[in-house]
Amino acid sequence: MSHLHTGSCLCGAVKFELEGEFKKFFLCHCSRCRKTSGTAHCANLFAPGATLNWLSGEDKLSFYRLEDTNFARTFCSVCGSNVPTDAKSRGLVVVPAGCLDTDVDITPQAHIFMDSKGNWDDHLSDVAAFETMPS
Ligand SMILES: [Zn+2]
Ligand SMILES: [Zn+2]
Repeated sequence: MSHLHTGSCLCGAVKFELEGEFKKFFLCHCSRCRKTSGTAHCANLFAPGATLNWLSGEDKLSFYRLEDTNFARTFCSVCGSNVPTDAKSRGLVVVPAGCLDTDVDITPQAHIFMDSKGNWDDHLSDVAAFETMPS
């Protein structure tokens, strides 16, 4: 069964649709994901065999691959938002969950690379929570 998902970057220049199914959903706390996200972890969906179509802003895309690794990021060169990476050599599309405008039909399956997490990344679900910025 195939699903159509859509997403965009923060400034709206880049828009895409993805036809396929999310099979894995990992929250990755590795040092590379911490650097590129600026926060505790990336939230990456993996869609093997999916088709990624850029609807707009393809000319605004930047691509970065960490030398000698599979670690790659595609992002909007205007606003810096992470958008999907079409990992053709691995036959899958990696989608940062936060760039989707449609609901995600699976829930995160695991926290991974917990041995490289930040020293402040502990029991975050116990931290006080507010609907908006507290006054
Ligand atoms: Zn943008
Ligand atoms: Zn990672």
